[in-house]
Amino acid sequence: MTHTSLIAALSAWADTRADEHALTFVDSAGAATSTTYGQLDEGARTVAGHLRSTAEPGDRALLLFPPGLDYVTAFLGCLYADVVAVPLYPPGPSARLDRVTSVVRDCGATHALTTAKLVEALSGLAAEPDGPAVHPIEAVRAQAAPVGPDRPGQGDLAFLQYTSGSTGDPKGVMVGHGNLTDNHRAIAAGFGITTDDVVLSWLPMYHDMGLIGTTLLPLFVGIPAILLDTYAFVRDPLRWPAEVSRFRATLSGGPNFAYQLLADRFDAGLLDGTDLSSWRIAFNGAEPVDRRTMDAFSAAYAPLGFDRRAFYPCYGLAEATLFVSGPEASTGYRASTFERNALETGRLTEATGAAGTDSVTLVSCGTPPPGTTVAVRRPDGEPCAAGEVGEICVSSGGVAAGYWGRSDSAATFAATVGGQQGTFLRTGDLGATYDGELYVAGRQKDLIIRAGRNYHPHDIETVATAGDEHLRPGGAAAFQPETGDQRVALVVEASRSGLARLRADPALLTPLTGGLRRRVATDCGLDLDDVLVVMPGAIPKTSSGKIRRRATREQFVGGRLKLVVPAVPPVAPER
Ligand code: ATP
Ligand code: MG
Repeated sequence: MTHTSLIAALSAWADTRADEHALTFVDSAGAATSTTYGQLDEGARTVAGHLRSTAEPGDRALLLFPPGLDYVTAFLGCLYADVVAVPLYPPGPSARLDRVTSVVRDCGATHALTTAKLVEALSGLAAEPDGPAVHPIEAVRAQAAPVGPDRPGQGDLAFLQYTSGSTGDPKGVMVGHGNLTDNHRAIAAGFGITTDDVVLSWLPMYHDMGLIGTTLLPLFVGIPAILLDTYAFVRDPLRWPAEVSRFRATLSGGPNFAYQLLADRFDAGLLDGTDLSSWRIAFNGAEPVDRRTMDAFSAAYAPLGFDRRAFYPCYGLAEATLFVSGPEASTGYRASTFERNALETGRLTEATGAAGTDSVTLVSCGTPPPGTTVAVRRPDGEPCAAGEVGEICVSSGGVAAGYWGRSDSAATFAATVGGQQGTFLRTGDLGATYDGELYVAGRQKDLIIRAGRNYHPHDIETVATAGDEHLRPGGAAAFQPETGDQRVALVVEASRSGLARLRADPALLTPLTGGLRRRVATDCGLDLDDVLVVMPGAIPKTSSGKIRRRATREQFVGGRLKLVVPAVPPVAPER
């Protein structure tokens, strides 16, 4: 961890540990392909050789790859050539290219690296005016002569991380080589990483947690990583614990929903022989962390050797490279129960009685590692007192320079917090420190305000869907249809079995929504104005699976959400 950059680390491993396995990719069928540090370095130098002959330093190159080692090689090749990598979710064979073209326009990418299989799907891209030149990696490999790595020339910029929620309005976080090194060190300190660790990940490789946390970090530190095809996990979530066991992995994680999925799908028969005793850090981040999920997971998987102290709830975001705050490794998770009433007026006050409807349980995201400062800010820029909810602000070497092409980035990335040294990133997330630890409450732009009270949509959504098998856990979005209006709407997705039952007997809808309204009224003290039950999967989500409440609101207002049981009979077309 003494290396000054990822490139320096990789070059050093290629010199001293050329034949050791660096990365192993496991495909859907379970077949494992490994690459050594020497091969990875050679591959990256070949891509760099090609880029050198066709691109200028500082040019932007899109990376459009299915999960696999080619993607990592191409990414490193860009870094070696001092070309700015722009990882993106690869479009499917018949998918529209809107997202890709809007990113091309935003960052002016002149090149795109991909695989031969995807060239056809990307033909529309090259046809765009000023569209990028498309290079399949197979051809690159056949022709180029290896070069590099270069020292970063055009400033410090390594890659652009497009944030997940941005479809119409893409924002590319400018992550520098220095940001990467700094954040890798922060994660290594937070997780307490040693050379004995083994990473295992099914996370998408084009987004911050899967890219920085589980693909680049192991390369920087020099520990092996096993990358399971994301689609293999999506098709069969139990592959995750099975592969942890097979590779004796120590570090593995994902968002809360993934642990919930595993808790729900636990099957002693299918998991027979699985041994999770190696699992040392089970990080849980990128989305609100739910204590009940971790309790359920721990209870289900303890017989397989899972130690609940492995849970590591953490907070971070792309604008700070990735990691911001987490607990001391191997101490487990800490959940605190706060008075709901106080939270609604912006304060954390520990509830005295047993957890019940008057209280909200939040999971602590611990403390920032050395070198990172978290401050909570009032709207006027003054610091919040302990326990007072405000905007979470971060100062660290991981905080990026800004969004690509946005001259107004400084307001977000270099803000001040009264009385604090240095500049801070305004995260747009709400939270508070309590007892010296960070608690995240939710996103500012999603906050629901009614009669001077603050409601966090995630809380309403969880209460609404809890314990009703007709509804999809986590498939809900609460929002205010009109800005400045008091109305609150909730859209919930039916589960597959719920859909079948509701279709067979539409009269079930009334007791279903009635029960849901009662739960939200009792637990959150909120009367919902509109409740819509929609088709499974109808709520818009980001490519990393997060609920897009704004987009849901737009579809709601425009009457475009696909209802399970149409509320109004469709108008017969005119003849
Ligand atoms: P976009 O900015 O385009 O909407 P995104 O914010 O989802 O995308 P990321 O930067 O990957 O993209 O995600 C970081 C965000 O995820 C944080 O700003 C926060 O809202 C949420 N988040 C991360 N960790 C936690 C956590 N432990 N608890 C609650 N929310 C979290
Ligand atoms: Mg964000």
